[in-house]
Amino acid sequence: MSVLGPASSGGVVRGVRLSFGALSVLAAIGAVVAAALVQPVPGDPDHLMVFGRQIQHVCPILASTGSPCASCGMTRAWVWAVRGDLALALRYNAAGVALLAAIVANGALRGWLLNGGSLPRRAWAGAVLGAAAWVVLWLGGWGLRLAGLYPMP
Ligand SMILES: [Zn+2]
Repeated sequence: MSVLGPASSGGVVRGVRLSFGALSVLAAIGAVVAAALVQPVPGDPDHLMVFGRQIQHVCPILASTGSPCASCGMTRAWVWAVRGDLALALRYNAAGVALLAAIVANGALRGWLLNGGSLPRRAWAGAVLGAAAWVVLWLGGWGLRLAGLYPMP
């Protein structure tokens, strides 16, 4: 089975259509490449830069309320995770690390399926449980952060 294939209409090839599986593989690669392109400012792990230019981003919820949102720290979590500093990545946002891991695992799984692999009949139940566990981690981490028990590094 091919990942890429021509999409035809009336016998005329219009272009290349990507399957959901192929898009999942590309999403996994894109997530890792994007996280690798965003770099920590040397000597300042809290701030990020892209192609040498510092990102001047302030979370609108943090700016307006003084409290972090549930996703604060996710970009830094991805940036540090792809650089191998998992401990620092988890301190920024554990749900961010889990999300990146899920995107990469899903891309690997979809790539395997595209090459003839197969899933057990009730694999969807594992995906639903994984998504539910992620929401609990995301919102639970946010609650702990708001309570002062899971501070940013
Ligand atoms: Zn935020």
